[in-house]
Amino acid sequence: MIPQMNRIGGHLLAATFRGFGIHAKVMDTYKGLDLGKKFTSGKECYPCQITTGDILYFMEKERERLGDAFDPERYIYFMPESSGPCRFGMYNKYQRIVLDSLPELSRLKIGSLTTDDGYSLSGIIDKGRVRDLRKAAYFSVVVADVMDRLLWRIRPYEEDPGTTDTFIERSMHVMEDVFEEFGPEKAFDRILDQMEVIIEKAKGLMDPRIPRKPLIGIVGEIYLRSHTHANQDLIRVLEKYGAEVVNASIAEWMNYISYDRLREAKIAFGLSMKQLRFGPMKKQIKKILGFGSELYYQEFRQKKVYDRLTSMIDLAGDHKVGDLEKVLRKDDLFSFDAGTEACLSIPGIVEYAHEGYNGVVNVYPFTCMPSTITSSIIRPRMDELGIPYLDTPCDESIQPGREAAIRTFMYQGYQHFKQYGRKAF
Ligand code: SF4
Repeated sequence: MIPQMNRIGGHLLAATFRGFGIHAKVMDTYKGLDLGKKFTSGKECYPCQITTGDILYFMEKERERLGDAFDPERYIYFMPESSGPCRFGMYNKYQRIVLDSLPELSRLKIGSLTTDDGYSLSGIIDKGRVRDLRKAAYFSVVVADVMDRLLWRIRPYEEDPGTTDTFIERSMHVMEDVFEEFGPEKAFDRILDQMEVIIEKAKGLMDPRIPRKPLIGIVGEIYLRSHTHANQDLIRVLEKYGAEVVNASIAEWMNYISYDRLREAKIAFGLSMKQLRFGPMKKQIKKILGFGSELYYQEFRQKKVYDRLTSMIDLAGDHKVGDLEKVLRKDDLFSFDAGTEACLSIPGIVEYAHEGYNGVVNVYPFTCMPSTITSSIIRPRMDELGIPYLDTPCDESIQPGREAAIRTFMYQGYQHFKQYGRKAF
């Protein structure tokens, strides 16, 4: 069972898994929030409440559906974990405690992929096929990013309201079949052939008479910025007030994980070398080669996808993680040593500003540590740069002033657009 963070990404990933013979399914999301709240204290991060609710709701429905045949041992709940430093490191363990407290769910397994090994996928599939599954899964993430970007590129300019959403939803199901069929053979060009057909049709939905709109970039906590229920459909609200939006991608986070593991291995190697400890040095070299080739592969594959598809339509590309670290170093804003999503959000915002975006929104769960750090560092910087900036912390409550704040922000974005124009992709 795969939790639904961003809809397209979850579905393409599940389809890829199915292609490899893993019976994968995306769980409904946000329907079990009451259950999530019942089994949390209120101190946990909002995504933890949502995902806890998702798994409990799903299992409840399965029990109702199957009756006596229901066997929790037949399910694996796919929940990535990390070693921190923020509370993400605890979700997995916390949810284990919750499941163990419910007698019949204590036998439900959690597929605990960890950022420590760059989400290696071992344990879910035979060792010999891990590498292929991993490549196909990464490819599905990149293609899902492109489909999301296509949606945000077309929808503000659609001729008939609602057609883009319907078209992208249908296209997602087409791509699920394509990934199931071609994912296991890594026939990536065949997959992109279908994406070209989709892009060509999507372009036909646009009304060429609608002029370009102010361009707004989004950064923030990965779950919140990708989960439309949790962020109260932020992109659609921004579009309602005249924006074209680009959200930070999911592949960027995966590249960051590989980059950071590589970086850690290099630092550890340097320390072992100083102490002349040859055993650890050997281990670190192995890690450097492993994470280095993985990062190279991911960036290479991502670039190939964007190069081919952006020749058909002007979609936003992605930042390279190494370049983002340089931005932080140059302006001494933050350090990759501290880790977390702030490493991407802070330089991502600076890059948006330099590239000619007309405003930036930082979206995150209320009390999220990395995003609060991002906000504290970036606010004065944005004032200096003269770019409109908005924080949108979210929990399940509807804040009365939120839409007014977005409307005001968009007014500023529009003024910026009138004065300076906008980035062309
Ligand atoms: S990134 Fe933010 S929301 Fe996610 S676990 Fe860390 S503190 Fe919580």
